[in-house]
Amino acid sequence: MKIARTNEQLSALLAEAKNNANTIGFVPTMGALHPGHLALIQQSINENTLTVCSIFVNPTQFNDAADLAKYPRTEESDIKQLEQINCDILYLPSVDEVYPNNWHSPEFDLGHLDTIMEGKMRPGHFKGMAQVVYRLLYLVRPNRLYMGQKDLQQFTIIKHLISQFDLGFELICAPIVREADGLAMSSRNIRLNEDERSIAPLIYKTLRAANSNTFKDPQIYCDFAITQLEHAYMKVEYVEVVDRNTLLPIKNWSDVKEKAICVAVQLGPIRLIDNIFID
Ligand code: AMP
Repeated sequence: MKIARTNEQLSALLAEAKNNANTIGFVPTMGALHPGHLALIQQSINENTLTVCSIFVNPTQFNDAADLAKYPRTEESDIKQLEQINCDILYLPSVDEVYPNNWHSPEFDLGHLDTIMEGKMRPGHFKGMAQVVYRLLYLVRPNRLYMGQKDLQQFTIIKHLISQFDLGFELICAPIVREADGLAMSSRNIRLNEDERSIAPLIYKTLRAANSNTFKDPQIYCDFAITQLEHAYMKVEYVEVVDRNTLLPIKNWSDVKEKAICVAVQLGPIRLIDNIFID
């Protein structure tokens, strides 16, 4: 695996590789890699002649400086894991490489998408995320961009951005990789203590209980889910049944075919998010 720490090194590696590469797959990450990230990278390796992974903890998407400082940084082990699965290029830039003084971010109109669910709790987060993905796409110029269903709102915003700016990349939504007991993998899970870790799989269990035969309408299911999770000492931020394409809540199970149920809870020291697709 080749590592580029500057844009110049990245351009040189891409120019060299492009002679032999028919398609370039790109997986942006913030590092602290776990098997969920690796599954995305593996999918890109399987589907493209060249795979680029980036690791960049993007300061513009953190609205809390303490949260940014606490974000896990595990460069050495990340590099080892990427080498093991034969990723081709790792782009590992500094903040100045991604945001040089002469670079100006375009204005992103995210409509309602950055004020609902995660956006309500984290103002500015999605504008910062859109900014970094836009910038990284400009630098890497892939054919395919791989993002996880785990961050469904992020995925939906990037889909919106690609159509808004007519960017012409293919966007691929990769399924959520879970622990054996159903907990969605996340870099933050290691901060759960033993008790919290044993409670956490209830999130997925509660999502899987959603069923139009048992719950007359989505609101009745959401009330059930909130009660379940709060009984287990989780602080529920939201449970919503939404249209998978607009992420707006629906009133009846039959309102749209492609639905998702999205949840965010605070458990001990961390916030956990999860979702499932239902048809
Ligand atoms: P992050 O490093 O948290 O920004 O995540 C980088 C990419 O990995 C995003 O597209 C995430 O949606 C995806 N991802 C994170 N956790 C998982 C998981 N458990 N399963 C699959 N993809 C994931």
